[in-house]
Amino acid sequence: MEAHTWRPARFMVIAAHPDDADFGPAATAAKWIDAGSVGWLVCCTSGDAGAEDPGTDPLELAALREREQRAAAAVVGYAGVTFLHMPDGALVNDLILREHLVREIRTFRPDAVLATDPENTFPRDQGVNHTDHRAAGFAAADAVYPAARNPMAFPAMIRGGLAAHRVRRLYLFWTHKATVHVDVTATVDRKLDALRAHASQLKDFAAIEKRIREWTAELGAEIGVAAAESFHLIVIDDDEAEQTADEETELAESGSTA
Ligand SMILES: [Zn+2]
Repeated sequence: MEAHTWRPARFMVIAAHPDDADFGPAATAAKWIDAGSVGWLVCCTSGDAGAEDPGTDPLELAALREREQRAAAAVVGYAGVTFLHMPDGALVNDLILREHLVREIRTFRPDAVLATDPENTFPRDQGVNHTDHRAAGFAAADAVYPAARNPMAFPAMIRGGLAAHRVRRLYLFWTHKATVHVDVTATVDRKLDALRAHASQLKDFAAIEKRIREWTAELGAEIGVAAAESFHLIVIDDDEAEQTADEETELAESGSTA
């Protein structure tokens, strides 16, 4: 297997909770941003149920976790972060969430969306993948296709000036069906720096760092590099279609100037 080298000009990471994007594809995001891509992060919830003490004020916790996520996003280099403020632990792939995600996609207009693999219910047969991760993954996929590109889906948005948008690729992370590996040797330290920003969630950072280094090294070994992140890649519109669309645009532009 070889390192995956395709790079989106614009990409959006859709995550259930603050810190998912940093445990997930942060090193890939940092690598792409360093190479000139523009990235945007969408957090469906603000992680208001992510504490051990039942006396924790969920609103204070949400505000803290949003601050932590914004700090982490600055380390990775995202152009911005949107919080949808859905309830932590109760995320549902319904029309309300889909409309929010379609609005984000039609506004930012990414070539690729990165989201949790919703089919990975029992990771490595060693636990249950959080219901919010599965809901966010399915919601992202359903927002990407067909909703965001269908001008008859959420027509009020279209009338409001947000045109339909074709996302061409889905990169599913935390997957049990990895099809591509991205060489993140140069940015795995940035992923760790981003993770460090989530102080409220990480009691033993040394253990986290050890685990992240082991995982990325394991994946890296599969393509002969020091560190990698892996994805289940769904190509909705391949590069041939992209070329055709570009040619059509060029034709249209040359026609309008004639
Ligand atoms: Zn999570």
